[in-house]
Amino acid sequence: MEEILARCRERIERAAERAGRRAEEITLVGVSKTVPAEKIRGAYDAGVRHFGENRVQEREEKNEAFAGVNAVWHLVGHLQSNKAKRAAKLFHAVDSIDGWPLAERLDKAMKERVAREGAGRLRVLVEVRVSEETTKTGAHEADLPELAEKVLSLPNLELQGLMCIPPLFGEVEPVRAYFRRLRELRDQLAARLAVALPVLSMGMSHDFEFAIEEGATEVRVGTALFGEWEAARGASHA
Ligand SMILES: *Cc1c(COP(=O)(O)O)cnc(C)c1O
Repeated sequence: MEEILARCRERIERAAERAGRRAEEITLVGVSKTVPAEKIRGAYDAGVRHFGENRVQEREEKNEAFAGVNAVWHLVGHLQSNKAKRAAKLFHAVDSIDGWPLAERLDKAMKERVAREGAGRLRVLVEVRVSEETTKTGAHEADLPELAEKVLSLPNLELQGLMCIPPLFGEVEPVRAYFRRLRELRDQLAARLAVALPVLSMGMSHDFEFAIEEGATEVRVGTALFGEWEAARGASHA
């Protein structure tokens, strides 16, 4: 795992260098869906501190194995509002807010946690549907300003930026336009609402270098860290 992680970090560093950025600006989120807990633990021991899961139930099932693990857990998959309460218990960040009902339910769930445990606000990102034809999840661009403004008004959520999952291409170069688009949307939104939205979560195993060149601050890497087998199983779940 150390070697694989080192290779990942090197790819991040080289992409950052090309873009005139510092590698420390970029957070590696190891997407560990379908990956057995021991293997995730191995990545943690090697130094990965952020992990992404796409299903609440899977995260719950793995929870026992992570006692004493001091990692940041991101929910990166579509979340149904009726699971908001369960998600708020185990995740530190929900990177896939796609509508108001979900945001409202999460805020309410966090309010209870804040009162009971003194927990901090929940970090959230709005997921944007950058391609209308091929992507099924995320908020529509047209709804973004109003949604972001409303999410910012919620006391127990902290909106930090945007996330996207571009359509898959045989070649990776065309995907760059989607990353650029997300960055533009973020810049416009931050100016319009006069807030800092520092986080751009974009880029996966096959295209994260492009994402970094276009401004990603978080890359979500599954296959390149955990191997092909788990990734194939993940695809069959989706
Ligand atoms: C699975 C997944 C990833 C990781 O994809 P890889 O191609 O395996 O790196 C990233 N983001 C989301 C939302 C995912 O579901």
